[in-house]
Formats: sequence, C-alpha cells, structure tokens
Amino acid sequence: MATEGLILVTGASSGLGRAFAQHALASGRRVLGTVRRQADAEAFERLAPGHAHARLLDVTDTAAIDPMVAEVERSLGPVEVLVNNAGYGHEGILEESPLEELRRQFEVNVFGAVAMIKAVLPHMRCRRRGRILNITSMGGFITMPGIAYYCGSKFALEGISEALASEVRDLGIHVTAVAPGSFRTDWAGRSMTRTPRHISDYDGLFDPVRQRRQAASGRQPGDPARAARALLEVVDSDAPPLHLLLGSDALGLVRDKLARLQQEWSQWEPLARSTDSQATAPAA
Ligand code: NAP
Repeated sequence: MATEGLILVTGASSGLGRAFAQHALASGRRVLGTVRRQADAEAFERLAPGHAHARLLDVTDTAAIDPMVAEVERSLGPVEVLVNNAGYGHEGILEESPLEELRRQFEVNVFGAVAMIKAVLPHMRCRRRGRILNITSMGGFITMPGIAYYCGSKFALEGISEALASEVRDLGIHVTAVAPGSFRTDWAGRSMTRTPRHISDYDGLFDPVRQRRQAASGRQPGDPARAARALLEVVDSDAPPLHLLLGSDALGLVRDKLARLQQEWSQWEPLARSTDSQATAPAA
C-alpha cells in the first residue's frame, strides 16, 4: 500500500538518505529531509519544488528535535514515515580511541535516532499509524577489528529497534531495522572519523584493514539507488520485516556469524545448562 503522508529522512544531504529521498520524490511522495548546512537544504528542496522540504538539524542537538517535529506536523502535515538514517562511522583500535569518540558515536547513531523516534511517536500513536525505519548496519550483527565503537552503536540500535517494535506493534506502528552491507556513499570517505595510530602492537592486525577500507571507498558493491528502491518497498509493504539486510555481502557475513554462534553455543551447551538452580530445574 503506497504511503501518502510525509516521509521524514534524517541525513538527506548524501549517500543512502539522499538516494532514498530522491527515489521517494520521483515516485510522487512528499519528503522532508534534514541536513546540516543551508546550502544542502537549498539543494534538497530543488530536487522537487513543493514536494521536497528541508530542515536544518544536527541530530545531537536533541533539544531541537521535538520542536522541529511539532513544527513540521503543523506546517506540512502528518509524518507517516521516519527514516532514521543520519549516522557516521568511527574507525580506530579500541585501546587507542578516546572515550570521547565513543560518546560522540553514540550521540549521533543512537541518542539522535532515539530522540527522533520519541518525537514522532506521540503523533503516530495518536493516529494509530506510522512506520519507523532505523538504518543500522551489518556492523549491528558482525564485527571486525577497528570498528568497535561503530559496531557498538549499531548493535545498540538493532536491539532498541527490536524492543521498540514489540512495544508499538499493537498501536499500528511498524518498526524495521535496516542493516546495509557496504554501499557506495561518503561513509568511508569524508564522513568517517579515523583515530590516529600510536600503539605498534596493533600495526600488523589493523593497518591492512584501514588501508583496504580507504582503498575500497567509492568502490563498494552496494548501489544506493537500489537500496532506495528496497527501502521504499519496505515502506509500502503491509507486513514489513523487523530486520532487513541489504546486500549480498551483508547476507553472507551475517549468516556466517549466526552459524558460528550456533556452533559455539552447542559446544558450550553443557556449561550453559550447568548454571540452572537444581531446586527448580525441570525433571529429566
Ligand atoms: P554518508 O554519505 O556519509 O551520509 C551520512 C549522512 O548522515 C549525511 O547526510 C550526514 O550529513 C548525516 N549526518 C552525519 N552526522 C550527522 C549528525 N550529527 N546530525 C545530522 N546528520 C548527520 O553515508 P551513508 O552511507 O549514506 O550513511 C547513512 C547511514 O547508513 C548511516 O547511519 C551509516 O552508518 C549507515 N550505513 C552505511 C553503510 C555504507 O556502507 N555506506 C553501511 C551500513 C550502514 P552531512 O552531509 O552534514 O555530513
């Protein structure tokens, strides 16, 4: 069923957010994109005058979010779909990376997204209608050395999305956590924060990972325009998924991770079961 109300996309200046907004606009929807610079706001509204609306927002400015959503509901009408897309990747060995970078990573990828959800929920709940798509990452299921803070933030958003879905399902609100693989956006380029190296013990492990990611930036397998089509299909679905992977890299890596988890849990099953209280354990 095609969405008629307003679609709100955070981080609509580039990459996946921009591609999704463009595709939704091309299929006749009205889209509000949040951006951080006036020039980006003007460029966004030029995409489809009268249908593309922009607001300036840094999602870490959480005090600005409720008033912005209230103003949008008043001036542009009901927000039917929220796409929590704004986010960035921190890259750095955990021991080398300041705690401040972990805070910043969570402020944007987790606190910003949750503040957006909390701002739209009262309106959606009142109407018993709404869609929330949280752009997480395959890094919300799998990990690799050097992106502990990023994966932590995306694991958090996966968990929050799943619990939230169970809270709002009976209120007419669908939640989907969308976990993309590697997509050809600014993510590993201008948007990434890279903590400088200084502990030589990690050189052999991490330097090749950093070099590979830098070299692959702009040549990732995922096509943002195709992700945009997939996202709109979810928005229009009567029964959207709770978890959606995007890209065959994400599918392969996450399936491998789940198989390894099953194998490890089976190997250690006797120890896991050994901790049940004898008094309450079911009779054999
Ligand atoms: P991108 O091209 O760098 O786009 C990121 C968008 O987020 C930009 O519009 C950026 O705005 C915005 N943003 C960043 N920090 C913000 C903040 N504090 N407040 C408001 N907006 C902010 O990268 P992308 O790949 O499209 O990223 C979109 C989402 O997909 C992110 O959540 C990312 O983690 C996720 N993701 C990407 C990939 C991938 O391979 N590309 C894979 C998995 C998940 P500015 O232009 O102002 O910087």
